[in-house]
Amino acid sequence: MSIFEELGIPTIINAKGTSTRVSGGILSAEVAEAMREATQACVDMPVLQGRASTIIAEVTGAEAGIVTSGAAAGLLLGTAACIAGLDPSLMNRLPDTGGMKDEVVVVRSQRNFYDHAVRQAGVRLVEVGIADRFAGSGVRDAEAWEIADAINARTACVLYVATPHSEPSLPEVVAAAHGKGVPVLVDAAAQLPPVGNLRRFIAEGADLVAFSGGKAILGPQASGILAGRRDLIQSAALQMLDQDIWFQQWSPPANLFDKHRLKGLPQHGIGRPCKVGKEQVVGLLVALRRFVALDPARRHAEWISRLVEVREALRPANLLQVNLVDNGPDTVPLLEARLDEKAAGMSALEAVIALQDGAPSVHADPSGAKHGLIRFNPMALQAGEGRIAGERLAALLASRA
Ligand SMILES: *Cc1c(COP(=O)(O)O)cnc(C)c1O
Repeated sequence: MSIFEELGIPTIINAKGTSTRVSGGILSAEVAEAMREATQACVDMPVLQGRASTIIAEVTGAEAGIVTSGAAAGLLLGTAACIAGLDPSLMNRLPDTGGMKDEVVVVRSQRNFYDHAVRQAGVRLVEVGIADRFAGSGVRDAEAWEIADAINARTACVLYVATPHSEPSLPEVVAAAHGKGVPVLVDAAAQLPPVGNLRRFIAEGADLVAFSGGKAILGPQASGILAGRRDLIQSAALQMLDQDIWFQQWSPPANLFDKHRLKGLPQHGIGRPCKVGKEQVVGLLVALRRFVALDPARRHAEWISRLVEVREALRPANLLQVNLVDNGPDTVPLLEARLDEKAAGMSALEAVIALQDGAPSVHADPSGAKHGLIRFNPMALQAGEGRIAGERLAALLASRA
């Protein structure tokens, strides 16, 4: 009996991808075994994070890095680091930012609800730019000079949400921010693959970059990476780790911590709710090693074969126009089924819900449902599941014809 059977929890077919809502993806046996092993011994957590820093630095090209409990945790810790620096009394006061740097500049079109994590540190977001390009009223978005103009003595950092269409470009934003002596924190949570993005944002001058560990890296669902400037990573680590000991007793790894630069140790910091266990740290590091070593063409071929399973199973369904969307090995392919909503007498969203409500529950990607599209994402599909997902949709539509 599986643990989920024992708990009475039905498992689902996840054709949505590695989203948190559907519990992320499937860990490789190697990662799962490493996590199991990690449960069987105790270690000094700052020492483990110090080793993680070396590995993350090698992989990202950054000066340092820590394993976080997710990209959102990285955003909170990164913001807190930009506010407090290496001053333990400022760390202890957060999220009260009275008299401290309490503003973060962000391009308005990049606002999203993950920026709750930034605001949690006690800052106010200062939005710049009006995105005519999205309103259909023009071609422009924010420009770098607008960011520069919004920076003042209270600015803790500039938040940059990286996507392939973010504007202005990161190098322009970095130039504007660094010109005013302010760091740039990049939310790159879901910007993998391509694997090259692990290095790209740092190479383009970002001071801190947050990645999810539970998305394409296929690490533990509640893990992530914060990489960047060593002083900022040190501050982030100090605000996350449990340091309830005497300062004399504290002998942290020198590659991550400069004990001589600190007048004392902060106590449980604002990042304490973002605790990561040794299992998460170990699992993330093993998954990261696998992700970097993986042949993108091979992984891509595997993803395509999962989607082909869905497509084959959908063949008998005649109310669908099926399209495999593939933009190459550095991207995640998708299967898109356009539903003839009129003939089916049901909307794509209703079909998505019906799949979800059946047994086994199939979670398709609902992002195109308002436009008549039922999407299938291969990242968390296991062999054989794509066929079941496709058969379920075909059977649903057969009953409507
Ligand atoms: C997924 C995501 C996050 C949150 O990542 P977690 O690792 O789940 O904390 C933050 N920002 C963006 C843009 C994301 O896509």
